[in-house]
Amino acid sequence: MTAELIDGKSIAAQVRAEVATRVAELRRVHEVTPGLAVVLVGGDPASAVYVRSKRSAAAEVGMDAEDFSMPADASSDELLHRIRALNADDGVHGILVQLPVPAHIDKDAVIDAISPDKDVDGLHPFNVGRLVQGKQRFVPATPAGIQQLLLRTGRDPAGQHVVVCGRSEIVGKPVSILLAQRLDGGNATVTVCHTRTRELGSMTRQADILIAAMGQPRIITADMVKEGVVVIDVGVNRVDAPERKRGYRLVGDVDFDSVSEKAAAITPVPGGVGPMTIAMLLHNTLKAARLAVGSDGGG
Ligand code: NAP
Repeated sequence: MTAELIDGKSIAAQVRAEVATRVAELRRVHEVTPGLAVVLVGGDPASAVYVRSKRSAAAEVGMDAEDFSMPADASSDELLHRIRALNADDGVHGILVQLPVPAHIDKDAVIDAISPDKDVDGLHPFNVGRLVQGKQRFVPATPAGIQQLLLRTGRDPAGQHVVVCGRSEIVGKPVSILLAQRLDGGNATVTVCHTRTRELGSMTRQADILIAAMGQPRIITADMVKEGVVVIDVGVNRVDAPERKRGYRLVGDVDFDSVSEKAAAITPVPGGVGPMTIAMLLHNTLKAARLAVGSDGGG
């Protein structure tokens, strides 16, 4: 391997330490402890793991964190009722509904019901609008984490050609907007690719920075990147691994072994983007609490 490894774990630890310092300061100066409410509907084991790790990460930086688990057959009304109660609770500064929600629940109605002031996932139309306008407040955590990985390793996207593979609401679309924005940490030239893109490789080969967020195991191969590219692999995919006790392993959207021979730098999976997502959720929750006390919004 010739590429430098972009160590998301250690950069996320830095971000969490910064958040912890500012949480303590907020408590000292304003006597306020940021509160995060995580709502989980149904017992999906992967979602339950995510919820637990978000809650314990919040507690570690000194926040109040509470889970609200609801049964898989909870109705939309019950969930909306829960969200309204959390909106009205002054001790709760951030509300996160773990996605996906069961199919019988209207996901958009749920996102719309969260107070935009507590929408630490940055998915409410008000906050999406602010992001598009360059007046960002709560940037969705994974895109914000990607931007921090680049900036904190000295890779300012300004002037770079960033190729984003994927156009989801939580990763591809917001990261494309964020990095193209006329703001510090932005100013990239961004190309967005998806399933209707013709000849994906002809696009990805032009990338100075390649962001893969498709959910397709190892689809980006060495012939699809140029020498010296910086690769951010967002994908988390399970592939069979009978030699392992649990029977599977996690791989990204990028064929790490071959691409790391050509790339200048690359994120591993796991240990790249994932830890940053949680760290930036904490950053957003701190920001929500600072906004609530009329502080400057947390930077
Ligand atoms: P998603 O909602 O499933 O969207 C996938 C996107 O990739 C779509 O826009 C799709 O295009 C595009 N795509 C799929 N296959 C493609 C192909 N063969 N060629 C070109 N484009 C293709 O995914 P997501 O929620 O953004 O998640 C993407 C991956 O990131 C998943 O593996 C997920 O687990 C992972 N993830 C990780 C984190 C983290 O913190 N590490 C956070 C979020 C997501 P169309 O729009 O045309 O369908």
